Amino acid sequence: MGLQQSDIIGIIGAGAMGAGIAQVAAIAGHKVLLNDINSAAAKAALISIEKRILRMVEKGRLNQVDAKKSINNLNVANQLEDLKPAKLIIEAAVENLNIKRDIFAKLEDICSKDTILSTNTSSLSINAIASGMQRPQNIVGLHFFNPAPIMKLVEIVSGIETNPIIADLLYDTASAWGKIPVHAKSTPGFIVNRVARAFYGEALNLLNENATDAATIDTLLKTCGGFRMGALELTDLIGHDVNYAVSCSVYDAYYGDARFKPSLIQKALVDAGRLGRKSDQGFYEYGDTAKPANPKVAKAQQAPKSFRAYATLSFNHNMLPLLQSSEIKMEFVEDQSKRGMLLPSGVHLFFTRGMLATKEAALIGAPVVLLDLATDYVKTSHLAIAASDCCSQDQLNQVVGLLQALGKKVCIIDDVAGMVVMRTIAMLANEAADAVNQNVANAKDVDLAMKNGVNYPKGPLEWADQIGVSYLANVLENMEDVYGETRYRVSPLMQRKAIRGANFHD
Ligand code: NAD
Repeated sequence: MGLQQSDIIGIIGAGAMGAGIAQVAAIAGHKVLLNDINSAAAKAALISIEKRILRMVEKGRLNQVDAKKSINNLNVANQLEDLKPAKLIIEAAVENLNIKRDIFAKLEDICSKDTILSTNTSSLSINAIASGMQRPQNIVGLHFFNPAPIMKLVEIVSGIETNPIIADLLYDTASAWGKIPVHAKSTPGFIVNRVARAFYGEALNLLNENATDAATIDTLLKTCGGFRMGALELTDLIGHDVNYAVSCSVYDAYYGDARFKPSLIQKALVDAGRLGRKSDQGFYEYGDTAKPANPKVAKAQQAPKSFRAYATLSFNHNMLPLLQSSEIKMEFVEDQSKRGMLLPSGVHLFFTRGMLATKEAALIGAPVVLLDLATDYVKTSHLAIAASDCCSQDQLNQVVGLLQALGKKVCIIDDVAGMVVMRTIAMLANEAADAVNQNVANAKDVDLAMKNGVNYPKGPLEWADQIGVSYLANVLENMEDVYGETRYRVSPLMQRKAIRGANFHD
């Protein structure tokens, strides 16, 4: 059971997060006491929350009576001492360990021994905040996402000392506030900021390898991967200074684990002051004079009259209906020893399994073009392909022609292992699996966190189950071979699932 509506909520810090959380708690029916070191900031926050609540009424999301009650629930607390009657205090002051520890030490003297003290920190350790406090068992992370009134996810982060009953109580409270809570252990990045590093990291690595340009990577992530935003446009939105700082802090916190290695490309943007939207320039240009950035799409090519398709496990994700939808004659061959498709010019079209196309070609002694993953081959507007070094231009053109005849825009990327969408989803799933393996959270909560904290269309472990855990494990093994980096090592849990042919979810 969560808090009662009659329980008072104290909030410290009336910035973007504190004000958003105050709005959520007030609408949920709690009296809210909002404190800021700068009392003018707290007063200004109340005015802007009131405006937002009135806008909700205009949009029909809240009725007049509830809006009035919510506005009446909001109060400024000029001093920390005024927070004494609160049952739960949510600290959302600046992201600085010493400042947060100082606030908590003062609160312990002011508040009763039953007051729950929570922090909205996005990166600091709950253990470090609670260390040396009088009642560390009452201290817990309550990590809302920005903007708090809109984003559904709340990570309930437990430190070593946190009382599990308190974590459960906040879980139920967040649920009652209309949020989607998940439990997480206090580890660097918790769930979302840890798993999401792979999303940015792979896009940045692809750019670093000159696989293609930013607009093409982002377009493929959106069309083939179903992500709402491409990883690179998202880093432009977040701000490269902020995103790079989080990457560095997570990398340091994991003692330099290659999986979290920050990108030199992003550092270069930060050094150059190209911070993204806020400075009108990042990977893209913004502002009135900005030139549009379009993905690189192949010119129209002649389609083959026929092709051969082999029945293999790779015909997932609506590929077969797509192939059957075209006018081109498909000769379907029930030969499990062969993969993919064979075109009249002698070029093979395979689904990527994390190898270089050039290596695939060497293995069969014939030119190969690789096709990237699309989570729905019928729905996607674009497809990415990469040719082996021995593939001729005519052979590549024939593959382009075939995919265009299936109604797709084709992006030719350089021969990089794992291509764009396959490597991104494999790495997200691997990181999610490792978070589960290290008991940071369970599989259901990791997927919920990624869907509701960063709006992924599916949880990374749901993707793994759909694509095939062993297929993704093999992609990563092949990528590890290519790069020789522990970045691509397969999580022990993913290995175990792959060996048993088991899924992450029942
Ligand atoms: P912000 O800069 O918008 O607001 C911080 C507020 O805290 C300011 O109004 C400041 O005056 C006040 N403050 C500073 N020191 C204080 C003190 N000692 N006592 C009381 N008030 C104090 O910051 P924000 O973006 O709202 O972030 C707040 C916290 O939430 C940080 O810990 C941050 O890491 C975390 N967080 C931020 C986001 C985000 O996207 N902005 C998302 C999740 C979590």
